[in-house]
Amino acid sequence: MAEKTILVVDDNIVNHHILCKILKESGYRVLEAMNGQEAFDLISDSENQVSIILLDLVMPVLDGFGLLKKMRETGLISTIPVIVLTGNDEQETEIRCLEEGASDFLKKPYNAQLVRHKVASILRLWDNAMLISKLEIDELTGVYNKECFYRKSEEKLAADPEQAYMMLYLNIEDFKMINAHYGAQLGDQLLKYLGGILKKKWGETGICGRIGADNFGVLLKADKLVSQEEVGKFYENVMEESPVKGVNIKCGVYYVTDPSQTVAVMCDYAKIAEESVKHHYGLFYGIYDESMSQNAMRDHQLANYMEEALREKQFLVYLQPKHSTETGAVAGAEALVRWIHPELGFISPGEFIPLFEKNGFIVKLDAFVWEEVCRVLHQWQEEGIELVPVSVNASRADFLLSDLPEYMDELIDQYDIDPRFLHVEVTESAYTDNPEQIISMVSTLRDMGFKIEMDDFGSGYSSLNMLSELPIDILKLDMRFMQSGKNEQLKGSKRNILSFIVSLSKWLQLPTVAEGVETKSEVEDLKSMGVNLIQGYVYAKPMPIADFKEYMQNHRAEKKEVMPDIPEMLFSELGTDPEGKPLILVVEDIESNRRLMKKILFADYRIETAENGAIAYEYIKEHCQEISCVLLDLLMPVMDGFQVLELLHHDAKLSEIPVIITTETGSNGELRALNLGAHSFVAKPYNPDVLKHHVRKAVEERSFLRMKQEYMKRASTLFEKAYRDELTGFLNRYGLKEALKQLPEDMTHAVIALDIDRLKHVNDSYGHPVGDEVIAAIAHVIRRNTRGGDILSRIGGDEFVIVLQGMSDPERTIQKIRQICELIENIDVKNDELQPSCSAGVSFMEHIDEYEEVYQQADQALYQAKSAGRGTCTLWKK
Ligand code: C2E
Ligand code: CA
Ligand code: CA
Repeated sequence: MAEKTILVVDDNIVNHHILCKILKESGYRVLEAMNGQEAFDLISDSENQVSIILLDLVMPVLDGFGLLKKMRETGLISTIPVIVLTGNDEQETEIRCLEEGASDFLKKPYNAQLVRHKVASILRLWDNAMLISKLEIDELTGVYNKECFYRKSEEKLAADPEQAYMMLYLNIEDFKMINAHYGAQLGDQLLKYLGGILKKKWGETGICGRIGADNFGVLLKADKLVSQEEVGKFYENVMEESPVKGVNIKCGVYYVTDPSQTVAVMCDYAKIAEESVKHHYGLFYGIYDESMSQNAMRDHQLANYMEEALREKQFLVYLQPKHSTETGAVAGAEALVRWIHPELGFISPGEFIPLFEKNGFIVKLDAFVWEEVCRVLHQWQEEGIELVPVSVNASRADFLLSDLPEYMDELIDQYDIDPRFLHVEVTESAYTDNPEQIISMVSTLRDMGFKIEMDDFGSGYSSLNMLSELPIDILKLDMRFMQSGKNEQLKGSKRNILSFIVSLSKWLQLPTVAEGVETKSEVEDLKSMGVNLIQGYVYAKPMPIADFKEYMQNHRAEKKEVMPDIPEMLFSELGTDPEGKPLILVVEDIESNRRLMKKILFADYRIETAENGAIAYEYIKEHCQEISCVLLDLLMPVMDGFQVLELLHHDAKLSEIPVIITTETGSNGELRALNLGAHSFVAKPYNPDVLKHHVRKAVEERSFLRMKQEYMKRASTLFEKAYRDELTGFLNRYGLKEALKQLPEDMTHAVIALDIDRLKHVNDSYGHPVGDEVIAAIAHVIRRNTRGGDILSRIGGDEFVIVLQGMSDPERTIQKIRQICELIENIDVKNDELQPSCSAGVSFMEHIDEYEEVYQQADQALYQAKSAGRGTCTLWKK
């Protein structure tokens, strides 16, 4: 008690003195203030550690009520109790003081005993309360701690059994990474910030608690949920002030259907719902349904069994044959793992692989599968069976291990096998998620001699783009991604894409495997496209290793055929160029030399000749597309070889034509010519075979380059497909991103966020096909009323982004968009309820780097437009 500090606030010296005397005699430390402001300054300084305030009401500067108000505003009222000093018969004042947060009263004139008693009892009460709150409140975030959250929630549920409730579970996505990246201190600040937000939003109407490191629970009266977009917008607003930016918060919602469950279980359900939206862009909450729980329980069960299963050899490796389209024989296999559990029976990899990928066990399982495959390869080798390559699957997590190469090296060593026979399948998505690390690890494996197959190619967008840069040897196309076309037309276009991908992979010298092939007609089709290997039920399902051995021996090729040697195949096809033989230009001033070269080369090439550089240069300019290669003498009259090289070198188009220098041995022009970009060098007098060899090389290179260009051109049409929204023909999100890059610089462009009003209502009451019609009609209006260079995109269900190229005049922009909105409101519809309208927001972009910011501005303006009533268009203003 002796440590407690009491603050006496009274302007009346006599009263003041009496009180201080009583308190000092009781052993308290006493601080004194003559008015509310002085008092406030004293308590604001935490050094003073004021335990209680005795407060007079009527004072100059700041009176008693004034101080109470200030204490409420700053929250001090909940940490320091206040006893108000009043005169006799002031009941109304007393009531008001209680309402303003005072704890008790003392009446003047003071009775020493009463003063001591009241002060002591308030202090005791307060101490207890603080202790309890310490036990109840999570110190960092200010919301209830877990135990108290559970207890309070249970009390609330029990108190009102008629009321329906819902439990929210909120989680900060990748909080561990945030901590690691920004430091625990900022992490703590973020938690504190969120705690504050929860308290502000639901502290009064619900119960908020921190139930784990980075997750919160909130019990609320059940209510309809607002849309995902609205939640997204809410987060955006709220996170503006957050100490850490770019944080995603995901929420799971469990409508309490059985109030007799424990709150912990309710939180578990909400958590399961939260997990269903984890890492899903644009989804902020998930609502629990029973199937989620069953899945989670099943996952839990499987996770419990997995270690034991590995020890007890419940995992088996099956092999599925890959057949060569050329010979029909088995030319490889894929290893696929199976789990046969003594009680649960057969468990599909489709079920346990995703689970193991999540919990990390996949790394152990894959290591097991790879070793099994190596063991079997070794065994076949011992038995003198001719090997076929076997591919194993690898998951993302496998590549994040730094010692993967060492492990693979040991395997190869231990089982004494050639790494060529072990193929590693890497899914396309593994490459897109965390490119650098995966690419570098895969490259290491490839350098060690393993062959890399890209699995499930065609299941994502990014692939074409990356294809030529990734460390891969073989492309696997999954037919199941290709067959999803519902109608014939779509199937047709998928077939086109497939066929294009196959030819593309040929140009890139990548053999292709088609998997998931189920019918004979597919086999024929794939064969005609030039697919190299086929894997699928049409030949065989995955089978136990022993069965595969027999199968393989029954499906051997007459002639050996493992993997086609691709470069050969590529260029033998080039020989049958429908344009005829490749064209070679011989530039040589000596007639007999020209004749000699013609003689050596004419069987395979078309030959043109020029007797000096000037003539040659003119010819090259005219026929640069056709010429495959130039044979160039260095020493000539009029214009010598060096000058020709110089000229070609400085023209991007002409510099692509390979030039072979033909000159006397010993002349020191060779180096200079090579420096000027010559392809190679052949010394006179020619050895015919050497000359032929050099010419062939140069011609091959030239054709390859041409094909590569052609591929880029065709690839860009394919990109078009990936970048377009099918319904409207507008660009999608990805397309928009690409198109922005093409906008001319040094120009202002208008960015318009345009939103269809009440589309959800149309969808809900008339169905999505009707909604789609509305969207398409609106897109039609937009297209008809914009120009060629403008960017038209649909980035969400009812959301468009339009960029008017070179438009910098706000007035005109608004006018134009209003006009479009008006036309939309006049679209002819059968039913008035379907009459569409749009709202729009406009802002201006001076440089494409600003796009995100400007889009946000346009979006804000759109929001304003919406709140101002439908069918309007607003300009963004600071
Ligand atoms: P995946 O790598 O795409 O494997 C091909 C899947 O297609 C296999 O399914 C195979 O049985 C199935 N399949 C083959 N031919 C046909 C066909 O003609 N029609 C149909 N409908 N399906 C066919 P499975 O064995 O169920 O494996 C599923 C996925 O599990 C695999 O897809 C792979 O991603 C993963 N997986 C399987 N084993 C392993 C493994 O050992 N390690 C890792 N990391 N993943 C594995
Ligand atoms: Ca695979
Ligand atoms: Ca696959």
